[in-house]
Amino acid sequence: QGSTVADLADLLGINPNDIIKRLFLLGTPLTMTESMSDELIELVADDLGRDVKVMTKEEENSFTFYDDPKDLKPRPPVVTVMGHVDHGKTSLLDAIRHTGVAEGEAGGITQAIGASQVKINDRIITFIDTPGHETFTAMRARGAKVTDIVILIVAADDGVMPQTIESINHAKAAEVPIIVAVNKIDKPGADPTRVRQELTEYGIIPEEWGGQNMFVDISAKKHMGIDTLLESVLLEADVLELKANPDTFASGNVLEAKLDRGRGSVATLLVNRGTLHVGDAIVAGLSFGKIRAMIDPRGNNVTEAGPSYPVEVLGLQSVPMAGDEFRVFQDERDARSLADERALKARIEEQNKVKHVTLENLFTTMEDAEVKELNLIIKADVQGSIEALQDSLDKMDQSEVRINTIHSAVGAITETDVILADASNAIIIGFGVRPESKAKAAAEHAGVEIRTYSVIYKCIEDIDAARIGMLKPTE
Ligand code: GDP
Repeated sequence: QGSTVADLADLLGINPNDIIKRLFLLGTPLTMTESMSDELIELVADDLGRDVKVMTKEEENSFTFYDDPKDLKPRPPVVTVMGHVDHGKTSLLDAIRHTGVAEGEAGGITQAIGASQVKINDRIITFIDTPGHETFTAMRARGAKVTDIVILIVAADDGVMPQTIESINHAKAAEVPIIVAVNKIDKPGADPTRVRQELTEYGIIPEEWGGQNMFVDISAKKHMGIDTLLESVLLEADVLELKANPDTFASGNVLEAKLDRGRGSVATLLVNRGTLHVGDAIVAGLSFGKIRAMIDPRGNNVTEAGPSYPVEVLGLQSVPMAGDEFRVFQDERDARSLADERALKARIEEQNKVKHVTLENLFTTMEDAEVKELNLIIKADVQGSIEALQDSLDKMDQSEVRINTIHSAVGAITETDVILADASNAIIIGFGVRPESKAKAAAEHAGVEIRTYSVIYKCIEDIDAARIGMLKPTE
């Protein structure tokens, strides 16, 4: 239907004649009651020095909200801990949960919901308790940005290991700053300097060496350095100037959700914006509900939760998925109809699955892309192959399409590689290695391309051909 000249004048609080004049000058004379196209509205508003963005129904339903800068208030940082298995993620989260808690109380702390919060120097930090880069990246693949800062934990007696590197690449792909916790410094044989040295190879350089990353030596087991680590998180948060508008309808992401026998659908939500209240009508992914109760990370019932606060909510009529967005509606009917609409759309989308970039569709995909980039994940049987391939890629003409290797490692193609590729719209190149069966299934499901080669020149030839849209279809 569109807005009329009179509507726009009303919206901008100006005389409609001013708009009619502008329209005339733009070569599109219209009268008061004629409707204007969205582009025209934006153009005229711009001409009048006003910023108007016409939202489509789609955009209204998506989660890009606008806040006046004066409504923004500081919010706590949200942190995820990542690192190699056994380097101490669980121990660190446990140590953090016990920070600032009196001895006697400590025994009573259970992990109530999928997130926790600590208070240090009178400021709050939110931790997501599902450590690991798989969860982190799976969330990102679903469009959820739920982490402001990553703590990369590296055991000082073990140093940089494969999952350390994976974690770095996952955090980098998400453009989230990394603070390094060098753990287990209580152990004989711990060598924190070696960890620093090793990490420089991956672009993680300590501030004391002129780099960008804060490093803190800790012992999760002996509770050493935990406060310093938390203070570093606050310092990083200050740099990021994290803010949100607390005084509006809440929106955010689902961290995890399950069906509980007694309580029904139980979802842990992280609020990004606004404040969530008991009684709110909400849509999370495809499910709708009215919030019946909310539980904070300490297991207490609460009636509201602001930006960066995690809460477990009861009252959804079905179980949403981790990473789903949620949003509160003023009108319960609107919420219900959006959930219905989404469920229908999801069914249609399931039928025409979104396709990721492949070498074959690269050229046509790039033609209408703003940034022309090809993201690659390279897995190979030996380090030498990765280097040789990287070398050839570096020499390739990248004036048309920039080629980024977002992750490379020796070993078979795993499900984690596919998750990263899915989130980063990347192609996986296997060199002398094959995908694990789980990875293969995941790639098929997500529409991620995996190409395997045994000779380098063939791979280079394909990428080169794909770059200019000349790749011949195989079989
Ligand atoms: P995750 O796999 O990364 O979650 O690692 P865990 O937290 O489960 O820790 C793996 C092992 O390392 C456990 O046996 C812990 O007790 C031990 N550990 C963790 N942190 C420390 C530490 O600071 N010092 C020592 N000596 N051992 C630790």
